[in-house]
Amino acid sequence: MPEPAVRDMIEKLIAIPTVSRDSNLELIDFVADYLAGFGVSSSRVFDKTGTKANLYATVGPNVEGGVVLSGHTDVVPVDGQPWSTDPFKIDERDGKLFGRGTCDMKSFYAIALALLPEMDSLTRPVHFALSYDEEVGCLGAPDMIKEIAEHVPRPKAVIVGEPTNMQVVTAHKGMTTVRTTVTGFEAHSSQTHRGVSAVMTAARCVEKLSAMAQERMSSPNVDSDFEPPYTTIHVGLMSGGTAANIISRQCEFTWDIRHVPGDDPQVLVEQFKDWCAREVVPDMQKISDTTGIESVIQDQVPGLRHEPETTAEEICKRLTGNYSTGKVPYATEAGQFQDAGFPVVICGPGSIDQAHQPDEFITLAQVDAGTEFIRALIKDLSD
Ligand SMILES: [Zn+2]
Repeated sequence: MPEPAVRDMIEKLIAIPTVSRDSNLELIDFVADYLAGFGVSSSRVFDKTGTKANLYATVGPNVEGGVVLSGHTDVVPVDGQPWSTDPFKIDERDGKLFGRGTCDMKSFYAIALALLPEMDSLTRPVHFALSYDEEVGCLGAPDMIKEIAEHVPRPKAVIVGEPTNMQVVTAHKGMTTVRTTVTGFEAHSSQTHRGVSAVMTAARCVEKLSAMAQERMSSPNVDSDFEPPYTTIHVGLMSGGTAANIISRQCEFTWDIRHVPGDDPQVLVEQFKDWCAREVVPDMQKISDTTGIESVIQDQVPGLRHEPETTAEEICKRLTGNYSTGKVPYATEAGQFQDAGFPVVICGPGSIDQAHQPDEFITLAQVDAGTEFIRALIKDLSD
């Protein structure tokens, strides 16, 4: 059973609804005040609008060799999801805590915050690194990671506490989101020879992306530790046209690439753009030179490459007692930490199976496993 202080902290963090589209400052202020109560000062790194912030803080001596506990403060929306209870109020039943953010991923740092009173004899520091906008493309963390790299004495490990059931995860795929805009040429729908349908052209482009996705399945870069073991390409959003009897002027679609190490998403985007320029655009422009296809990368999250035997991997294996490592298909902030030169793994309580779901939950057993882990880490940093 979770200790009262741990359970209480999870409850408090869940009660602040930090959906990505909204401000997270209430949660950041709460954490900063709580840390201040233990004499720990924290730094905020704001976004451009000033309505969201990252927070980082050092507990213990300001020396090298500490461990960063990284988590995101934002949660995905609950709109349209059939929740059995209020998503922002913890409900305990069947050995589980239900609530938005319980597994993804407030419990991880709630546990660490609750154990702050036990961090009074650290000889190397615990650093908190809490980000915003992770769920909308890992947008918040890079500015904070930059500051940590510049201002914080070199930590020996970063642990990103995304839900892995406390398994040590050493690699994840990268993510690239692209928006393609097709500009056609309007005409009456009976005059197909005089117009260029943006919608029908977009359909051809989507078909091309399907073919490219098929190719990736038999690529030499297949890595069987991932599920699925190849780079995926997927169109998730599409809109266009104005009426059935108008040849459409505009159609837009947004697609993403989840790449395995070895595949370069930039090369795939260029391959698609070249195909459009070569196979599709010339025919469009015979009708009008105002037509065209434009593809723009919206955002990119680097993959986490497996680097054998890092200090982060060693610590987490030893403290969890779980020596098998895994790889995951979803993107996290871990690749961003790695690109900044930090040894990093993903290891946190709860299962990704419950993330983003209605009735999201974490089991009490996983809360306890997370608590045991953080307590062991504190002890390890106190010798
Ligand atoms: Zn998450």
